[in-house]
Amino acid sequence: MSKQTITRCNFCGRAKSEVDMLIQGIDANICNFCATQAYQITTEQFDGQNSAGKSSKEGISFKYKPSDIKEYLDQYVIGQENAKKSLSVAVYNHYKRLNQKPQRTKNNSDEVEIEKSNIIMVGQTGTGKTLLAKTIAKLLNVPFTIVDATVLTEAGYVGEDVESLLTRLLQACDYNVELAEKGIVFIDEIDKIARKGDNPSITRDVSGEGVQQGLLKILEGSIVNVPPNGGRKHPEQRMISVNTKDILFICGGAFDGIEKKIAQRLNAEVVGFNSIRETGKIDKDNLLQYITPTDLKSFGLIPEIIGRLPVLTFLEPLDRQALRNILTEPKNAIIRQYLKLFKMDNVDLNFEPEVLDYIVDKAVEFKLGARGLRSICETIMLDVMYNIPSQNISSYTVTLELAKEKLANADFLRYAQS
Ligand code: ADP
Repeated sequence: MSKQTITRCNFCGRAKSEVDMLIQGIDANICNFCATQAYQITTEQFDGQNSAGKSSKEGISFKYKPSDIKEYLDQYVIGQENAKKSLSVAVYNHYKRLNQKPQRTKNNSDEVEIEKSNIIMVGQTGTGKTLLAKTIAKLLNVPFTIVDATVLTEAGYVGEDVESLLTRLLQACDYNVELAEKGIVFIDEIDKIARKGDNPSITRDVSGEGVQQGLLKILEGSIVNVPPNGGRKHPEQRMISVNTKDILFICGGAFDGIEKKIAQRLNAEVVGFNSIRETGKIDKDNLLQYITPTDLKSFGLIPEIIGRLPVLTFLEPLDRQALRNILTEPKNAIIRQYLKLFKMDNVDLNFEPEVLDYIVDKAVEFKLGARGLRSICETIMLDVMYNIPSQNISSYTVTLELAKEKLANADFLRYAQS
C-alpha cells in the first residue's frame, strides 16, 4: 500500500499546512519559524564572539585589556617586558582607533582623532621579535601578516615592489579589502632597508632609501594599488586599492652595530652636563635600552619613516638564565614538546637537570642564542627519538653523558664559530 508523503519541515517536523511558508532546499525543507530561529542563533553567536575578522559599522570589538595581552605574551615569551608592554598597548589602541569612527561622525564637535601608533622593535636576532608578533597574532581578530623587508627593492630592480607587502595581508583575509584595511602587518628586518652610506647620492641604493620612500607612503596612510599576487607590478595587471590609514604596522630589526651609534651619542652626552654616565647608571652590556629615534637616523632610516614609527621599543639580549627559562618555561617550550612527543608513545621522558644547563652552556659558547637551543636539542635527541619507539620501555632519562657524546660529533657546532 503506498503511503501518502506529506511535505514537512526537516528541522521541526511541522507539516506544510501548519506553517506560513516552507522553503525547499536540495533534499530538505525549512519552515519560516525555523529559518527565523536559525537567523537569530547565527546573529547572536557572531555578535557575542565577535568572531575573527567580523567587522560591522560599530567597528571591531576586542575583549582584551593591555594587561591581558601582556599576560598572554608572558606564557610564550620569556622576559622582554618593555617590548611586551609597548606591543600590548599599541594593539589595544589599534582596536580603539578602529572603533572611533562612528563616534566621530555622530559627534562632529569631537575633533580628537586617535592617531596610529606604529611600532618599531629593535633587538638582536633571535631575541623574540618574530615570536612576539606571532604570539600576539593568535589573540587578534583582525587580519595579521608577517612580511620580510629584505625582498623589497626599488621599482625597476630585481625584487618585489613595496606595495607587495600588503598582498600578504589581503591573502590573510581572502582578499576582503575592508578587513585588510583594519589589519596589522609585521615588517621583519626593517634594518635591511636602511641607507647604506651617510651620503645618499654617491651610488644608487637599490634596497635603501628608495624603498624607504615607498614604504613611507604606505605607513603614512594612503590609497595604495596592490598587486594581487605580489611580486612586481606590471601594466596589464589588475590592481586592488587598499587604504592603509587604519592598518597598524609593527616593524622589527636587529640593527646590527647600532650599539656603537648609541655609545657614540651617549659619549657625546657625557661631555654635556646631563649625562646618564654621570648618574652612574649606564649599562654597557645592554645599550639598546638607551635607544632613541636619533640612533635610528644615524643607522640609516630616513627621518620621515622614523616619524611614522612613533613607538620605539627594544628587546633585551638573552642571558644564560633567560635561555635556561626558554628551554622549559614557555607553554610550548622545546623540552615540553619532547615530553609530549614521548608521552604519545607512552614513554615518560626525563632530563637530568645538568643536561639543560649544558645545552645552555653550548648555546652561549657558540653564540647561537635562543635559535641554537633547538638545533642543540635536536642533535642530542635524534638517536633517542629514532630508537625509543621500537623499544618496549615506559621511561627514559637523557643523561649528561649522552648529551656530551652527541654534541662532541655535531658538525654544526664545529663550524658554528668559524
Ligand atoms: P627574532 O625575530 O628576534 O630574530 P625569533 O622571535 O624568531 O627572533 O626567535 C627565534 C626563536 O628563539 C623563537 O622561535 C623561540 O623559539 C626562541 N626565542 C627567542 N626569544 C625568545 C624569548 N624571549 N622567549 C621565548 N623564546 C624565545
